[in-house]
Amino acid sequence: MAKRDYYEVLGVNRDASEEDIKKAYRRLAMKHHPDRNPDNPKAEELFKEAKEAYEILSDPSKRQAYDQFGHAGVDPQAGMGGGFGGMGGFADAFSDIFGDIFGGGRGRSNVYRGADLRYNLEITLEEAARGTETRIRIPTMVECEACHGSGARKGSEPKICPTCGGHGQVRIQQGFFSIQQTCPKCHGSGRYIPDPCPSCHGAGRVKQQKTLSVKIPAGVDEGDRIRLSGEGEPGVNGGPPGDLYVQIHLKAHAVFQRDRDDLHCEMPISFATAALGGEIEIPTLDGVAKLKIPAETQTGKVFRLRGKGIKGVRSHAPGDLLCHVVVETPVNLTERQKELLREFDELSRGNAATHNPKAQGWMDKVREFFGG
Ligand SMILES: [Zn+2]
Ligand SMILES: [Zn+2]
Repeated sequence: MAKRDYYEVLGVNRDASEEDIKKAYRRLAMKHHPDRNPDNPKAEELFKEAKEAYEILSDPSKRQAYDQFGHAGVDPQAGMGGGFGGMGGFADAFSDIFGDIFGGGRGRSNVYRGADLRYNLEITLEEAARGTETRIRIPTMVECEACHGSGARKGSEPKICPTCGGHGQVRIQQGFFSIQQTCPKCHGSGRYIPDPCPSCHGAGRVKQQKTLSVKIPAGVDEGDRIRLSGEGEPGVNGGPPGDLYVQIHLKAHAVFQRDRDDLHCEMPISFATAALGGEIEIPTLDGVAKLKIPAETQTGKVFRLRGKGIKGVRSHAPGDLLCHVVVETPVNLTERQKELLREFDELSRGNAATHNPKAQGWMDKVREFFGG
């Protein structure tokens, strides 16, 4: 029986995209699957025909050979001696060779990158501003010393897994489908250990605490992450390790609140200083700064000390320190102090609009409100 054209089998044009070919095959496979057509012996033929067409047309190099030479270009039987017959077998041979080179005999598909890890690091505002170097301890898997990572007891050796022949994968026939699965005996490693190492129970690795030195750059802020490349979990079957992310958290500070590069602080000043003015000392991250308080300073006034904030990791200049004035009402007064304040109040009362314009203005509004 002459073979039908593969494009005709799938019912697609010769310029069909890979996606079109896949869709056409899926539709036909569903339609002709023998499990769904138990009473139709022709279905199995059609199913196999579609599968064969798909296998050729879904592979760009095989498709090219088919387009150029027809069935002779891809069919091992038809092409016998024609020079193109080996296409399929050739590719298979290559995958075996590459598998051995890159996978070291293990299942290539079971090589994974290790997981990334996160470490929460709490530092003070001062440390964040100046940068610091700290040591952290993290749990990690290290090579077992007793077996040097082989997982086999001293004097014995791991063997090539007999179930999968060291490939880490096995083919399982399920109905008409052949499915590739991770080898159940060796879990994809391709090896099995007849006499496991007693220290690591055959894992080749043991859990350990490792100490890492972490350099925290000056200017880091809450939520910043520092990546330590390759310090995450180790990879599986020779895969690369993941990364470790050190996430920065800032401890609350007794004096300052940080807002990006700026620092804020509440600055209580005495009633007298607020009224008469004066010079006070302000704490900053690197010492003390002097600040001139002008006379008649009110609560809520903000003084900005330029450059006394924090220079962020990505900033060109440091931020500012913003001091929020709170005038403190004096407490625990002595009789003499009370006496002076009463006298002071009496002197002010006669001319309230001048000395306490806000209070006076407010009182006027209240009086208006009550129709006084
Ligand atoms: Zn061991
Ligand atoms: Zn195996």
